[in-house]
Amino acid sequence: PVDAAFVRRWLAAATDAVERDAAHLTELDSPIGDADHGTNMRRGFLAARTAVEQEQPQTPGAVLVLVGRTLISTVGGASGPLYGTLMRRAGKELGEEQAVPADRLRDALRAGVDGVAQLGGAAPGDKTMLDALVPALEALSGALDGGEDLARALAAAAAAAREGAQATTPLRARKGRASYLGERSIGHQDPGATSSALLVAAFADTAR
Ligand code: ADP
Ligand code: MG
Ligand code: MG
Repeated sequence: PVDAAFVRRWLAAATDAVERDAAHLTELDSPIGDADHGTNMRRGFLAARTAVEQEQPQTPGAVLVLVGRTLISTVGGASGPLYGTLMRRAGKELGEEQAVPADRLRDALRAGVDGVAQLGGAAPGDKTMLDALVPALEALSGALDGGEDLARALAAAAAAAREGAQATTPLRARKGRASYLGERSIGHQDPGATSSALLVAAFADTAR
């Protein structure tokens, strides 16, 4: 089951991954954006980790809500409100419970990803974070329905997210800053899909 300690371990792993790959994320954001995605993510996750250390939320839902709220208030870019909405929605969906089973986590993440689609108006294929998040959710869901445990299901989700991020390269951006480039957005991997794959990989590492 997923408890507050699990979500805190995920946050630590995610923050480490974002710090490690910040330069790469910013580099991906330079040809098709404004070269700040790594900086944005790093600022947001460091602030979220500090907020969780200070406030000590005691349920998995409360940890996610606090992470989401912190991302919204500290990341000055499109990705902040979008990731913030994902985490806040997912956290609210988990409610007040101390520990939740894998299928509740899946349902919560689905609510979060739906929130991203609603807020940003994007769909898979638009060359955004949803191109990693939606396949990840489908893989997670399929693996759990097939009887896999959470660790294996999250490993499948991480692989799907990585493939989804890589598959954004030939796409033309239809949402966000990259869409201003039209055809010239083709041939570059989407930074937000790449950071989504990192966040899902951190989830898989936490469950291993
Ligand atoms: P900004 O574009 O404001 O500088 P970031 O560089 O931090 O913000 O984040 C850019 C990423 O945000 C993109 O690579 C894309 O994945 C994601 N993104 C932008 N707009 C949307 C949207 N409408 N829906 C989903 N994701 C989006
Ligand atoms: Mg940017
Ligand atoms: Mg920006």
